[in-house]
Amino acid sequence: MLSTMQDAPLSIAHLLRHGSTVHGAAEVVTWTESGPRRTSYAEVGRRCAALAHALHGLGVTGDQRVATFMWNNSEHLEAYLAVPSMGAVLHTLNIRLFPEQLVHVANHAEDHVIIVDPSLIPLLAPQLPKLTTVRHVIVTGSSTAGLEAPEGVQVHTYEGLLDGQPTEFDWPEVDERSAAAMCYTSGTTGDPKGVVYSHRSIYLHSMQVCMSDGPNLAQGDRALAVVPQFHAMSWGLPYAAFMIGASLIMPDRFLQPAPLAELIAAEKPTFAAAVPTIWQGLHLHLEQHPQDISSMREVLIGGAAVPPALMHTFENDHNVSVLHAWGMTETSPLGSVARPPAGTTGDEMWKYRYTQGRFPASVQARLVGDDGTVVPNDGTSVGELEVRGPWITASYYGVDAADKFNDGWLKTGDVGSITPDGYLSLSDRSKDIIKSGGEWISSVDLENAVMGHPSVAEAAVIGVPDEKWDERPLVAVVLREGATTTLAELQQYLADKVAKWQLPENWTLIDAVPKTSVGKFDKKRLRADYRDGGLD
Ligand code: ADP
Repeated sequence: MLSTMQDAPLSIAHLLRHGSTVHGAAEVVTWTESGPRRTSYAEVGRRCAALAHALHGLGVTGDQRVATFMWNNSEHLEAYLAVPSMGAVLHTLNIRLFPEQLVHVANHAEDHVIIVDPSLIPLLAPQLPKLTTVRHVIVTGSSTAGLEAPEGVQVHTYEGLLDGQPTEFDWPEVDERSAAAMCYTSGTTGDPKGVVYSHRSIYLHSMQVCMSDGPNLAQGDRALAVVPQFHAMSWGLPYAAFMIGASLIMPDRFLQPAPLAELIAAEKPTFAAAVPTIWQGLHLHLEQHPQDISSMREVLIGGAAVPPALMHTFENDHNVSVLHAWGMTETSPLGSVARPPAGTTGDEMWKYRYTQGRFPASVQARLVGDDGTVVPNDGTSVGELEVRGPWITASYYGVDAADKFNDGWLKTGDVGSITPDGYLSLSDRSKDIIKSGGEWISSVDLENAVMGHPSVAEAAVIGVPDEKWDERPLVAVVLREGATTTLAELQQYLADKVAKWQLPENWTLIDAVPKTSVGKFDKKRLRADYRDGGLD
C-alpha cells in the first residue's frame, strides 16, 4: 500500500524562497579590506533572481554547469542559491588546485560559465585558453581589468550583468533527484573525483546541520564559514543558514589569523567551522595578541583529526567549545558529530568528545575487516569505515570507481573502531597508517601526543621505510616561535604516552608542515620530501 502523503520535491528553490522571505532580515556579511560589507537575505533573494535572468540571457539552459572560482562571499552565496534553483548545476572550483588539476576538473565537468573574484584572475587567466567548454567568464564587481578573453569566450562584470534585471524569477519545479551542485575531492590521496549533490541530498543534509545531534545551527546564530565554499560546500553551512535563518559571516580572502581575529572581534560570530590548522593558527596568534573570541559558542572542527590539546586550549583559554566532526566531500560532508551522551561530565565526557562522534539516524555506518567481513561495534575491533545514506554519494561523476564502493556502501579509506553506543574513533587513513613489524601504528595518535607538548606548534607523522620493521614513524615537528626544546626532549616526553614499540626514533625539525589545497597536513608531500632527502 502506498502512503497518502504528498510527494513534494525537496529543492534549493524552496530554500531560497523560504530564506529570503521568512528570514529576509538575516544577513550575509562579507569581510573586505575596509571592513564588513552587509546584505540581507531578502536582498540576496532579489539578486539571485537577477543572476538567474542574467545567466538565462547568456544562454544557460538545462543542467549546464556554472562554475565558481571564488572566496567565501555574498556573491558566492548568490551563485549557490540561484544556479541550482534555475535548474542548472553549480560547480565549485577549488582555487588552490594545481593548474593542470584545475584544467582537468573544469573540462571534465564541462563548465560553461565561470564566475571569478577579481583577486583570483591571475590564477584563472593563464588556464582559460585550455578550458575547452567555457564560453563566459563573469568577474564579480564592476571591472574586468586584467582579464583578456581568449577566442570564443566572452567576459562580463557581475554587477553589469545583474543591473536592470528583474528581481523576481519563476523558479522551475525540478526533480529532487536531479543534480544541484558538484564538487571535486581535493585529491589528498589521489586525483580529484567529482561528487554530484542532488536537490534532495542538499535539502536533507541542511536539515541535519540544524539538528541538535548535529552542528545544531539555529535561527539567530551568526555562522562564520571559514571552511571554503569550494571545500565540500562549506560543510553545508550556506544552505543550512538560509534554511534556518542564521546569518552568515564570510571571510572572503582574509583567512590569515590576524584578519580572522579582527573579523571575530567585529562581527561576533556565535558559531564557526574550519579545519584544525586554521584554529591552531588562530590560537598561536591570540597568544601574542590576546582577544576575546568567546562570542563563538561552538566551533565545528573536522576534515582531519582534532588534537585533544587544541580542544582543551579553546575551552580553557578562550571559553569556546570545540565540536569534533567527521566527513568527506563524498558525504556532503556531514557524517559523525562528537556530541557526548547527555549527562556525561568530566573525563568521561571528554573521552566521547575526542572521538569522531556518532552518526545521525540518516547515515548508516559499518566497519569492514581485511577479510571483507563486517566487524562488531565493540569499541576495539578495527576495520575500514563504510557508510550509506541519502546524502552519501553512490558513484563518482563520469569515472568508473567501482573499487570505492562495496555493495552500495561508500568505502571511506578511513580505519577505526565504533563503540556499542555508536561512537567512531578513527586511527588513521588507511594510506597513512604505519605498518611496523606486522603491527599498525596510528600516525594521528602520535601527532596528538606530540602536539600536546607546549613547545610544539605542529607535528605531522609519516611512515618511512625501515629494513627491519618495514616501516617506522618519522615525526616532523614545527616548534613554536622562541621554543628551545630539543627533539630528544620531545622523544622523552612521549616515552610514557605511547607503547614502547611505537615510540618513534626518527625525528626532524621543519619550518612548516606542508598543507593540502584545503589546509590539511599534506602527508603525500611530506613522504615525497622525505624520499627526496628534503626533510633531513
Ligand atoms: P580529501 O580526501 O581530498 O582530503 P575531504 O575533505 O573529502 O577531502 O577529506 C575527507 C577525509 O578527511 C576523510 O576520509 C578522513 O580521512 C579525513 N577526515 C575528515 N574528518 C576527520 C576527522 N574528524 N578525523 C580524522 N580524519 C578526518
